[in-house]
Amino acid sequence: MSENLSTVARVRNPHAGVPFTAEEMSDDDVAAALEDVSVPTLLLSCIHMSGDPAILEGTLRPQGLFLNEVQGFMSEEDQAAARALALEVILDWRDRGCPEPEPVGPELLKAMMDWLVCEDVPDEYVRMLLEEMELDGTDARANAPLADPDAAASFPVVVIGCGMSGLLAAVRLQEAGFPYTVIEKNEGPGGTWWENAYPGARVDVGNHFYCYSFEPSDHWSEFFARQPELQAYFQRVMDKHGVDEHVRWGTEVTKAVWDDESATWSVHLDTGETLVARAVISAVGQLNRPFVPDVPGTFDGPSFHTARWDHSVDLAGRRVVMVGAGATGFQIAPAIADEVDHLTILQRSAQWMFPNPNYHERVGPGVRWALRHLPFYGRWYRFLLFWPACDTGLVAAKVDPDWEPQDRSVSEANEMARVMFTEWITEQLEGRPDLIDKVVPDYPATGKRTLQDNGSWLRTLKRPNVELVRAGVERVEPDGVVDSTGAKHPADVVVWATGFRVNDMLYPLRVVGRGGVDLREHWGHRPRAYLGMTVPAFPNFFCLYGPGTNLASGGSLIFHSECEVRYIVGCLAAMAERGLAAMEPRQDRYDEWYERCQAELARTVWASPHIEHSFYKNVDGDVHCLSPWRLVDFWAWTRTVDLEDFLVRSASVPRDRERVER
Ligand SMILES: Cc1cc2nc3c(=O)[nH]c(=O)nc-3n(C[C@H](O)[C@H](O)[C@H](O)COP(=O)(O)OP(=O)(O)OC[C@H]3O[C@@H](n4cnc5c(N)ncnc54)[C@H](O)[C@@H]3O)c2cc1C
Repeated sequence: MSENLSTVARVRNPHAGVPFTAEEMSDDDVAAALEDVSVPTLLLSCIHMSGDPAILEGTLRPQGLFLNEVQGFMSEEDQAAARALALEVILDWRDRGCPEPEPVGPELLKAMMDWLVCEDVPDEYVRMLLEEMELDGTDARANAPLADPDAAASFPVVVIGCGMSGLLAAVRLQEAGFPYTVIEKNEGPGGTWWENAYPGARVDVGNHFYCYSFEPSDHWSEFFARQPELQAYFQRVMDKHGVDEHVRWGTEVTKAVWDDESATWSVHLDTGETLVARAVISAVGQLNRPFVPDVPGTFDGPSFHTARWDHSVDLAGRRVVMVGAGATGFQIAPAIADEVDHLTILQRSAQWMFPNPNYHERVGPGVRWALRHLPFYGRWYRFLLFWPACDTGLVAAKVDPDWEPQDRSVSEANEMARVMFTEWITEQLEGRPDLIDKVVPDYPATGKRTLQDNGSWLRTLKRPNVELVRAGVERVEPDGVVDSTGAKHPADVVVWATGFRVNDMLYPLRVVGRGGVDLREHWGHRPRAYLGMTVPAFPNFFCLYGPGTNLASGGSLIFHSECEVRYIVGCLAAMAERGLAAMEPRQDRYDEWYERCQAELARTVWASPHIEHSFYKNVDGDVHCLSPWRLVDFWAWTRTVDLEDFLVRSASVPRDRERVER
């Protein structure tokens, strides 16, 4: 029967707002909801509802841009006037039955972008942002099923890990029709957000951006959600996409070995089983294997790493020594200071931080209503969080070789960051000048993981039962911790907030490639991969969140993973559709990429010789885990696969007559 298109119900754009009636939301209800929303975002939603872009020419407009400042520095009066204007538009739209807004043309969209962030958004970004925002209601990164389902079906893939990246890979492999198995050592999904259940654990990228582009969430209860809510989000995404039945929980991959003859990977599990796959995707994360320094001595009380928090230990009234205070310790101290008898924090170097008033704030009911019901509000809000975190941070991270003194800052922009952050830190220290030397870092700003806060950290340090010690750990004794100055700190509980084995990438997994080469031995202290994903001699092996892909200058790792997964599934599709047995990056491309990355990284503040104790650096002081690239470049480079970058082997060519196909 031929399909009569006119009888096919048009699906409403999922971002066009869930319709509501006056019975459900009276005029007063709507007015009340608008009290907590982001006013600039609201005004853009009004353009969709009314179809009238006149707002862009008016005086009610954002005045400036700063990460997480979602009111665009508008005055209270302007915000009130804008809400009144928006109320009229929304009520009219409601009373017209909440029709799906007409699509907005590209010129107007660009003007709306510029207006919201008070600057010209360069064209090269516009395409990326439009894809990320999905204003047309389509998920541009989704995969269509392969034209030849049999080709996909004969290409089983193993994914190692079911954190944010592995789950994403599973969803996309499923769309394309690849059979896949995910092996996950934990009993549930979420990785980072499964394991890091320490008090105060929360994300520090706004959640309306730190979620998959295709699975936005209008239900976050906090702007920077805590661990249980994040874990629940990944669980929900997994359930929705039916990934669960493809996952082997509580199972660890110990080794993966490439067999060149059959062009397959043998994936060894800790159960003793072996799976055979045409490709392996490693999604083991950079921050998954806890690092605890090997210090002498024995401590008699409870002692645990932050990612292995022992919730059976009651901290009330106990003396706690926390070793380390980077991003994790910084969240823990404010969360436990109230209940402990005494908290001693050993910190080798101070952390740079910047203000984020929303850091512990709940998402009000008005915002949640707007996210759900106002056309494209959630999409513009995502853009408002994304843009200031997108590549501007890289400017302050780049070294200007003529700038002096380099031990203070590395460029004019970096100096400006230093001044701003310092002012914000010191203004919180009224009455405690003794803390200034301890908490204002003596190295260039943004050189290590930069933290954000609403004042909770310094408020905690000012408490009488909290002591910040500027020292490392020397040894433990049965009843305390001795620091690197020789001072002893009595303890009932020791918490190791000492981070992860970041530079030991893939540890302790063994990946054995062509010719028996062991990947981690091959890397040594210098893990690297072409575009962060592929390595010569390791055919059909792909890394997610691999070498050179961590983000220190902003952005969300979910965005990066979405770019990587698109690229990897593109590689698999190319192989399946062309009947290829194997692909691996060309050595020259790989070497050239590595040299470019290293040259670029060497010109960043993260590699500054004035920065010590940074997990960004390996034992030689070089940086290998981070990406030095603009997000827009990484997005562009990973959009499509160029087979010219690879050595490929046709399935029909016998192994002994291997040849290179381009
Ligand atoms: C405390 C903390 C806070 C963070 N905050 C932010 C933030 O605010 N913003 C941000 O962008 N990023 C943040 N990150 C980084 C975070 O790791 C990434 O955002 C993201 O969660 C990485 O997802 P992933 O799936 O790549 O890795 P992970 O979440 O680390 O998941 C890896 C998974 O692989 C599994 N696995 C590992 N090895 C094996 C094996 N051999 N066999 C089977 N399974 C295995 C692990 O069990 C785990 O489930 C934070 C990290 C930490 C630790």
